[in-house]
Amino acid sequence: MSSPNQPANTPAPAANFIKNIVEADLAAGKHAQRHWAGHPGTAADHAAAPLDAAKIRTRFPPEPNGYLHFGHAKSILLNFGLAQAYGGRCHLRFDDTNPEKEEQEYVDSIIDAVKWLGCSWEQAGETNLYQASNYFDWMAQFAEYLISAGHAYVDSQSADEMRANRGTLTQPGKDSPFRTRSAAESMDLFKRMQAGEFPDGAHILRAKIDMASPNINLRDPAIYRIRHATHHNTGDKWCVYPMYTFAHPIEDALENITHSICTLEFEDQRPFYDWLLERLAEGGLLQRPLPQQIEFSRLNLTYVVLSKRKLIQLVDEKHVEGWDDPRLPTLVGARRRGYSADGFRLFMDRVGVTKNDSLIDYVLFEDAMREVMNESDQRRVAVLDPLKLIIDNYPESQFEDCAVTNHPLHPELGTRTMPFGRELWIEAEDFQEVPEKGFRRLFPGNKARLKYGYIVECTGCDKDENGKVVAVHCTYLPDTKSGTPGADSVKVKGNLHWVSVAHAYPAEVRLYDRLFSVPAPGARREGDAPELERNFLDDLNPASKTLITAQLEPSLKDALPEQRFQFERHGYFAADRVDSKAGAPVFNRAVTLKDSWGKAG
Ligand code: ATP
Ligand code: MG
Repeated sequence: MSSPNQPANTPAPAANFIKNIVEADLAAGKHAQRHWAGHPGTAADHAAAPLDAAKIRTRFPPEPNGYLHFGHAKSILLNFGLAQAYGGRCHLRFDDTNPEKEEQEYVDSIIDAVKWLGCSWEQAGETNLYQASNYFDWMAQFAEYLISAGHAYVDSQSADEMRANRGTLTQPGKDSPFRTRSAAESMDLFKRMQAGEFPDGAHILRAKIDMASPNINLRDPAIYRIRHATHHNTGDKWCVYPMYTFAHPIEDALENITHSICTLEFEDQRPFYDWLLERLAEGGLLQRPLPQQIEFSRLNLTYVVLSKRKLIQLVDEKHVEGWDDPRLPTLVGARRRGYSADGFRLFMDRVGVTKNDSLIDYVLFEDAMREVMNESDQRRVAVLDPLKLIIDNYPESQFEDCAVTNHPLHPELGTRTMPFGRELWIEAEDFQEVPEKGFRRLFPGNKARLKYGYIVECTGCDKDENGKVVAVHCTYLPDTKSGTPGADSVKVKGNLHWVSVAHAYPAEVRLYDRLFSVPAPGARREGDAPELERNFLDDLNPASKTLITAQLEPSLKDALPEQRFQFERHGYFAADRVDSKAGAPVFNRAVTLKDSWGKAG
């Protein structure tokens, strides 16, 4: 689909079914009567407070046990984007109910990544940054309410017995012999579980729902377990911890979340989500209307892996240089590589939000990046594969300035100057001693323009003892300087970029390419023998990183970390935020100017 003012192949924003749900809820006034205590709380806390000024509340709830990847960016941009679009708030909540696994390093990196994507949990004077472990008191209190109301019981079966009695997809489960325990007895046991009287696994608290339910998640799911572990936030206060499926809905409800958006694998959990919140609202503990869980399909992209386990393996086994390796689909890696946060936003708009699982072509991601960077990035000149050009009729110690435009689409960004002299670096590929058909740049007898400078005529080249070209010779036409009246007096077809040898900044440049050389790393391919099992590591692209020393125009010496430019004819490059030193930046290629994969592959 393309409209007159959109280039072909530029997809319009795709559908987002969750927007439709939000708009219908707003039109119906579904959430208009909620109160908000200014912080998370129970029904009583919120009821005593004014109406909630936020029209909707969404949340991004990462478990701080790893680095965020491109898939998380979809969830972040969706949740924060909805809140922004509809007068709502989006909470950043660390889902840290699982002791032992979380680390401050992950918390910090998640905060950085969310901010880098341009999202903020500080909206309209509110700061909605939460930690689920701060709700443990409420969770334990709610569990006790469920016991007293006959909706939960302490089970003392062994783990094996519980598993055996759970049934299968085709067979109903069997009631635990402890299911008929009195509420008083369960309450006493649960209190003693909290007091630390029992070892891990001795008892477990279960919701009392239906052991014959066709949905296994409703067969008396476990809600609290004994776990003698120190928690990074609550220390040794607790030796019982809530199960994720119990904790998560409660976190949402305490925070007044209206639309609780998650990926499709949680669809089977929705009946329990609703059951639990209903029981707690009946008991007067939670405010209505209750949060609604909505599932969407996760982002899958070709040429990368987005599974936490595989990412950990790539880092641990040193196939990459760390979590922020520019080749990894982590958000720290993307930032370091020089990808644009706005590019992520454009990409996610185009991918849309649906319930259909799909695999998105990496080209769509790169095209969104190119489109944003083409608009935002100033142009600079870089010679990546330098070959010396000597202008024999240009005086040896003379230099002059050439005016260069900073951004062809934005004349208001002005011009800068680049020194021109007798010796210049040009791209080796811009000279051919014996030109192939159609070649228009430098070959003996041909004229071409040195962009922003003069027209030159190639006169020959020098070679070393192996026959390799080491320098190209030419003469210049003094009346043809770009921007002067005589500039167009001679017509040429070739145009090349250059940097003065005496002024160039020789810099380390990392040419990054895709980390994997096939679209679905590790997946079986057509013609594979039936017994063949593929390993995603075998699909690593051996040429995913190439180090070169390039000759850059002098102004690039002052590039600040993370500053990004279009290197004319080459692509988009950013000063590395880790290895750049003041006055000595090194550059990473974020993306080439054109896609070369679709064609080659
Ligand atoms: P795990 O559950 O294995 O720890 P996770 O990737 O689900 O890993 P979470 O911290 O639970 O990590 O994820 C935070 C949020 O990001 C969740 O709401 C989850 O649904 C969402 N999310 C994770 N992966 C993707 C993806 N590929 N596409 C869209 N959303 C995702
Ligand atoms: Mg998860």
